[in-house]
Amino acid sequence: MSIMVPSTTPALITPGRQALDSALHQLDRAAAHLGLDDGLRTMLATPRRSLTVSVPVRREDGSLDVVQGFRVQHNVSRGPAKGGIRFHPATDIHEVTALAMWMTWKCALVGIPYGGAKGGVAVDPTGLTTRELERLTRRYVNEILPLIGPEKDIPAPDVGTDEQTMAWIMDTYSVNAGYSVPGVVTGKPMTLGGSLGRGGATSRGVQIAALAALGRSPEGVTVAVQGFGKVGALAAQYLADAGCKVVAVSDITGAVHDGRGIDVAALRAWVAESGGVRGYAQADAMAHDDLFELDVDVLVPAALEGAITEANAPRIRARLVVEGANGPTTPEADAILAANGTTVVPDILANAGGVIVSYLEWVQNLQACSWSSGEIELKLRELMLNAFDEVTALAAERGLTLRQAAHVIGVSRVAEAHRMRGLYP
Ligand code: GLU
Repeated sequence: MSIMVPSTTPALITPGRQALDSALHQLDRAAAHLGLDDGLRTMLATPRRSLTVSVPVRREDGSLDVVQGFRVQHNVSRGPAKGGIRFHPATDIHEVTALAMWMTWKCALVGIPYGGAKGGVAVDPTGLTTRELERLTRRYVNEILPLIGPEKDIPAPDVGTDEQTMAWIMDTYSVNAGYSVPGVVTGKPMTLGGSLGRGGATSRGVQIAALAALGRSPEGVTVAVQGFGKVGALAAQYLADAGCKVVAVSDITGAVHDGRGIDVAALRAWVAESGGVRGYAQADAMAHDDLFELDVDVLVPAALEGAITEANAPRIRARLVVEGANGPTTPEADAILAANGTTVVPDILANAGGVIVSYLEWVQNLQACSWSSGEIELKLRELMLNAFDEVTALAAERGLTLRQAAHVIGVSRVAEAHRMRGLYP
């Protein structure tokens, strides 16, 4: 009798594997700078827990699909694991591990008491009906149920998930617990214990980081935004609100350009109606890749990993790159940008607004209270700007790029937590 063995991951360098290589490269540099010993470095390079699950989904036509899901807890030494859940067809265990590692450094950098985690389901959510999506989400949550909980691991939205997904997660967990547990997940709708300001928090953080890094009046500053989804669209809006001129925007449907400045609110309305920036008549169509080469002050990559590579980095003319996405710049591209004098505000700093307001949401849930949008805004600004000042000060003192400085701070805080806790047994 022969037994069918499922094929293991092919020896192919997936985008996820590239993201993990980038994350490990960044960790290695920070560990070398900090003089961490090999044992600790290896511990920090290795996820604490990593779960792969099969998620069967009953389709509307009665057929059954089985997709892979993941939840990786990279580190929990500073507090419960924290990080979003991504629904994307190309996600894999390597990508989720990289994203979980970045969450660990991000939370440590902005000083919130969390470790890092990430989840993913290898599925295209746009190809499912709402009912299929609900069944998929609930079954995935059921499979990762032993890992998550308000004191253990708190998911949130990421690419391809939203507040409806978070509501299903909260409900599935709560039904299993037998009572409502709002603190198990953040990014919830307001009626279920969501926080004011969470929806636009990542974008608001991008705006705060960009304006701080500009260090001058935003009036007339030109901006190009790659990715016009949850993060990019509102980042463009907030930057325009502050006085910047958003001259180009791209998404998977195409790219548009107007040197006089795009009316971001009108473009958002067009996207809500048509599904993408393509065909927006008030601006000129442009090739997607040309956006990276525009002579702008600020470039905001706000889509997926690996957008800025050694292929396009030499042609980037922006003075400032503010990373709304996680891992948009490869290490090779990073070196090119640094050599060309481009300042990069790294992902773990620039997009930390999302997890900061997630933290505020979780604290409100645990205390069964709600704070005003003014209070949220104040705390978000304070945490973002504290981290920004720490990163820029360390970079100046030690001659590091902002990314290196951000990783040195994040990694050192986690390493310090390990040292103080000691090793059990
Ligand atoms: N997915 C977001 C991130 O990458 C938010 C995570 C969270 O709020 O836990 O930072």
